[in-house]
Parts: sequence; structure tokens; C-alpha cells
Amino acid sequence: MRLVVQKFGGSSVSSVEHIRMVAQRVAQTYAQGNQCVVTVSAMGKTTDQLVSLAGELSDHPPQREMDVLLTTGEQVSIALLSMALQEKGLKAHPMTGWQAGIQTSPIHGRARIEGIDTQRIRHCLEQDEIVVVAGFQGVSEEGEITTLGRGGSDTTAVALAAALRADRCEIYTDVTGVFTADPRMAPLAGKLQEISFEEMLELANLGAGVLHPRSVECAMIHKVPLVVRSSFVDEEGTWVKEAEKMKEELNVRGIAHDLHVARIKVLGLPNQSQALTKLFSKLADHHINVDMIVTSEHDDERIDVAFSVHEDEWKQACGVIESCATELDYIKVLSETNLAKVSVVGAGMVTNPGVAAKMFTSLSDAGVRIKMVSTSEIKISCVIPWDQAKDAVQELHSAFGLDVKEKASVG
Ligand code: ADP
Ligand code: ASP
Ligand code: MG
Repeated sequence: MRLVVQKFGGSSVSSVEHIRMVAQRVAQTYAQGNQCVVTVSAMGKTTDQLVSLAGELSDHPPQREMDVLLTTGEQVSIALLSMALQEKGLKAHPMTGWQAGIQTSPIHGRARIEGIDTQRIRHCLEQDEIVVVAGFQGVSEEGEITTLGRGGSDTTAVALAAALRADRCEIYTDVTGVFTADPRMAPLAGKLQEISFEEMLELANLGAGVLHPRSVECAMIHKVPLVVRSSFVDEEGTWVKEAEKMKEELNVRGIAHDLHVARIKVLGLPNQSQALTKLFSKLADHHINVDMIVTSEHDDERIDVAFSVHEDEWKQACGVIESCATELDYIKVLSETNLAKVSVVGAGMVTNPGVAAKMFTSLSDAGVRIKMVSTSEIKISCVIPWDQAKDAVQELHSAFGLDVKEKASVG
């Protein structure tokens, strides 16, 4: 018997009607002779609503309590979907993350799955039950409830598929697959039939929210056959697979964007490697994630450093640097928000030197100001003004020949 893990995101379970449709799809898979484990997200915008409820009570809600609060969203969904399946005459068994044996690190708000004790799920499957597991949550060794970071239900699904050695993991969402860019930003984006794990991981890390980056990482490590497809339209989705199994290696497979970027410039740091060590250690001590870093000469004795952070961490980063002004011995700090990052990603880039030039030409022809650049073997990213992000994505999409003739329909 084959085992299939299916995950349904927030928009797929946003109403009772939608939950019935999900139950119908699961019932179909079961009727085809598969064992089914289903992971669900919270209904519609529930998680956002819970976040803002907490925000009404506190400017800095405690993270342990946030995790207890946010996990309630997924608990509602597993109960309702199990009821909908039972209404169809099927045996369904809802499980929270901790009931399903999902053990995580103790970091609230962004825990990592460390292991899954699948005994309980396997026992239910042997009883012919459909197991419905709450996405996005687990339990730490200390017995505290944890969450995996926004969008983390994808990771629950893939980790379950890996632990159960499922035949495939299907991610159902509000688009028909992975597109060459977010179809909400680039209406001429087209659906990809397939994409390599490496390319998908870059896109996800660079802001393509269709898959949680850790879900791709997990699928890549454990070689989980992974497909992204629509909950609403019955058509073939996008397979994420090993690079060797791909039909072609394209220069640029897709464009990603991130609209939440800030840049900080520390001018006139002493020109010693210790100065950089001190600066970035201070930021790391405060768990601030630094993305791009550019250094340049200020004069013979001093250097300038510019780096980018997520806009949510910008204030804290500035505070840390200012509080260490004497120790760091810099001249001035400048900072800027309302920035975005656009990136082009493709495995074929390694062997094709023209991609960067084409990217810069296309952005400058469109009047987009490039503020920072970073590259890796399979991506080039530029930080640009936030209000030029949509134009930039569309320009790059067409410059790299990715435009399709017909607009994608987005749910
Ligand atoms: P779910 O609630 O099902 O997890 P998400 O909102 O997390 O859904 O992810 C689906 C969304 O991801 C799409 O609606 C789309 O706007 C966005 N997205 C971003 N980049 C891409 C891309 N390259 N291909 C498809 N969708 C993308
Ligand atoms: N409900 C969580 C979120 O909105 C997890 C998920 O949907 O994947 O981020
Ligand atoms: Mg998601």
C-alpha cells in the first residue's frame, strides 16, 4: 500500500465549504488505495488575527505564550477536517503536533524539527484511519509547545513524509504550482513543470513564500518526492526534484522578491578585522540575522560597512550598534528602510557569465536604483527601493525570457 502525505494551507481550509472540498480530495486519495496523512494550517487569516490580538495586549508578547496562542489555529482545523472526513463515512484521527510525536528544538517562534516518533501515527494507519496532523507545531524536550516559523506547515508535511518514508508529499495551495515569479507580482509568470531542490531552496530563502525554506531543505536531504499543486483547480502541479533528474538547466529559472528589507551603514570603523568581528558578534549575540554585507575604504585608517537586515530587526540592530558606539569606535551610522530585494535564480548561471550584466542593464533601463548586490553560484540579488519592486520583478521576468502569453489566474 502506498502512503501519501497531503498538506492544505490556510486558504484551502478558510471556510467550512473549503474544508468539505479538502475532505473530498483526501477521500479520493484514500479511495485510490493509499494510506493518508494530512497536515493542515490554520483557517484563512487566523494566524494573523491571533498575532494582532496579542499585539493589543503587549508590544513584546512573550514567545512561549505566543506559541501556545498560535498553535490553537491549527488545532481548530484538524478537528473540523476530521469531522468532515467522518461525515463521509471515513475514519479520521486528529493529532496536535505533540500527539503526533513531533519533537523540536526549544526556540519559540522558529523551532526546528529534531525528530518524529511515528509510532502513534503508524498505529492509527494500521487501523485504517486517516491521520490529520496540525501543521506548524511541535513540542520541545522540556515539554513546551513550539512553532516552526510562519509558513511552517509545509515543513511539518515534508518532515512527516520523510519520517514515514511516504511515497510522495503533496502541498496543496492557492496557486497551481511554483511559478517563474510570484503571480501576484508578475501576471505573466508561468507555472514550472519541475524545479530542482537547489533552485527551489534559493527561491524560498529569497522570499518565494510558496514553500517554507526548511520544507525544501528537508525534502532535499531525505529525497522526498514533492509536488506543489492547487486545492481548487485539478491540474498537474510542479515537481521539486533532484537536479540530475531535471530535463534542462536554465540560466534563470525564476525571480524572487522580498519586500521587507532595511539597510544599515556604519561609517568610519577602525580598519582592523577586529572591528568587523566585534560589530557582527554584537548583532549575532542579539540573534539579528544579517543578510548582505559590503565593505569599502573610508580613508587610510577607516572603513565603511553596509549590510541588510529584515525590516523587523532594523530598529533593534540600530539600537545594538548605538549602544556599543564607544567600543566600536565608528564615526556615524546611517540607516534606511522601505527597501526590497529582487533576485534571479537558476542552476545554469554557474556556467553563463552574462546574467549579472543582463540583470543590471535591465534594472537600470527601467530606472531602478540598485543599492546593494550579492551573488552565489545560482543567484544574483539586488537591493532596490521598495516602491520599484513590482516594476523590477516584471522587467527581469521579461528580460530573461520568462513571460508567458496568458495571465495566470490566482485564487
Ligand atoms: P498556503 O497558505 O497554502 O501555505 P501561501 O500564501 O503560504 O499559501 O503560499 C502561496 C502563495 O505564494 C501564492 O498565493 C503566491 O502569491 C506566493 N508565491 C510567491 N512566490 C511564488 C512562486 N514563485 N510561485 C507560486 N507562488 C508564489
Ligand atoms: N498558520 C501558520 C502561518 O500562517 C503556519 C502555516 O500556515 O504554514 O504562518
Ligand atoms: Mg504557506
